[in-house]
Amino acid sequence: MIDLSSLQGSRFAVLGLARSGLAAARALQAAQVDFAVWDDDATRRAQAQSQGFPLADPASLDWNRWDALVLSPGIPHTFPKPHPAAVAARAAGKPVIGDIELLARSGAPERIIGITGTNGKSTTTALIGHILKNAGIKRDIGGNFGPAALDFRPLGADGVYVLELSSFQLELVPSLRCQVAIWLNITPDHIDRHGDLDGYVAAKRHIFDNQQPGDLAVIGIDDAPSQQTAAGLAAAPATIVTVHIGQPNPTGISVVAGRLRDARNDTEIDLKPIKNLPGAHNWQNAACAYAACRALGMTVEAIAQGLATYPGLVHRQERVAIVDGIVYVNDSKATNADATEKALAAYDTIYWLVGGTPKAEGIVPLEPLFGRVVHAFLIGASSDAFAATLEGRVPYARCGDLKTAVQQAHAMASRERRADAVVLLSPACASYDQWPNFEVRGDAFRTMARALPGAVVEAGGVA
Ligand code: ADP
Repeated sequence: MIDLSSLQGSRFAVLGLARSGLAAARALQAAQVDFAVWDDDATRRAQAQSQGFPLADPASLDWNRWDALVLSPGIPHTFPKPHPAAVAARAAGKPVIGDIELLARSGAPERIIGITGTNGKSTTTALIGHILKNAGIKRDIGGNFGPAALDFRPLGADGVYVLELSSFQLELVPSLRCQVAIWLNITPDHIDRHGDLDGYVAAKRHIFDNQQPGDLAVIGIDDAPSQQTAAGLAAAPATIVTVHIGQPNPTGISVVAGRLRDARNDTEIDLKPIKNLPGAHNWQNAACAYAACRALGMTVEAIAQGLATYPGLVHRQERVAIVDGIVYVNDSKATNADATEKALAAYDTIYWLVGGTPKAEGIVPLEPLFGRVVHAFLIGASSDAFAATLEGRVPYARCGDLKTAVQQAHAMASRERRADAVVLLSPACASYDQWPNFEVRGDAFRTMARALPGAVVEAGGVA
């Protein structure tokens, strides 16, 4: 847990008692800092009270006697409508901050690598965590994914905190300094919370606030908003390195045909053979992770070794088993066409398990990649709609449920024995028609694949 005793003398109201709010309450209590907690959900309030946390509704406090509102990142404070507690705090001139701001104010000596972007944050966070651990560097990873930041262990000045930062969190960290700040990419997302694309980009841009000379800003420049962001940082104090995928980058880092090249020191790493980082999107993650680890002083060899041994994350193109030479891949986290696009683009010969509770766009945006699909196995509520999209383009079978789809895909793939074939669960759909969430769906797929006759599980396992 982060030591917050340097905050004694201040008084904090914590609103939102899920993972990060509870961690904040525990850390404040352990440090004997004055605080109170609240949640609009009475059950959560009662649970907090039973843990000995004092309750106070921050919407009706006398804010002259409090110093800041610590808001859960899931609670709106601007769009679509600010929570009354945020209105009350701001009316009294008191800041609205997040749990990670408490880490920033604590004076903890660890270096911070912050990671943001629309996609790839968790992968890049886990990847950097793995590379550092593999090299024996003390580190903790978390934030938006994994443990809350205030649950990090004290690691000392040579330790590193690797923090995944969402746009919501970045609006609430006015004094966070990232010695390395990574910006992966931008596509429109969470517009309801940020008003418009500019608002979303502006929130993410806070990752570069407070950087100082000698710090590093790593920016993927494969989309227009990210290119503009990179251009806008030209006068910033930090050193900037750009990351370009698919094209040479004469001044920064590029990955072309799987070869990572750092023009700054003329080094190369071949990413193509790394089985747990398939596809151009993962090359972007790997190149940004490489840049961050170089900035910490690691050698190219040590980074390459970490990349090569990355075990992957569950439910994100997770290799769960090999059966008759065919790889079974669990991409259950892909709950929309955008995410499934990355998986379809990463493999050439696909037996595709797809379907569930569909999004508005269905699988229509994936048509350019249908040539990679040998056969589709339809699951769940989207079956009629997806059959209509696939008709005449991709052979398909209506399987109803995942178990039937796994059995049929296994039978066909084993019979056909095509080179480099994968049986891929990448549903492009939410799971709610048949499962409580995407994790349960992915876990079920892993269990089914591993129960197939002759299934082999690769060494290593996921992060
Ligand atoms: P996040 O934490 O930002 O949601 P994840 O690392 O969990 O991202 O990846 C979620 C999905 O996004 C993956 O299954 C993959 O389809 C896609 N993805 C991962 N990295 C990238 C990237 N750099 N660019 C675009 N899409 C990506």
